[in-house]
Amino acid sequence: MTPMSSQLRYHWLPVVDDSSDYGLVRHAFRGRRIDLGANGESFCGNLFALAEPSEVDWIRAPSCQLCNSELKAVKG
Ligand SMILES: [Zn+2]
Repeated sequence: MTPMSSQLRYHWLPVVDDSSDYGLVRHAFRGRRIDLGANGESFCGNLFALAEPSEVDWIRAPSCQLCNSELKAVKG
């Protein structure tokens, strides 16, 4: 079995998500941004359309707490 710690690559990306008042939420996705296509599955298990966020999106979009705890669980 491959150790997860050396294999784990992820990145955060603001995506359209109505669960936030702002309309965008920062979710964590596996791999690198460049490895993903038009859609990506977040760590919290949802499929999102990926777009290039603006700088304001990075600042204003809240982080997904589920993704956060999933990452913590994976990293140990
Ligand atoms: Zn998430």
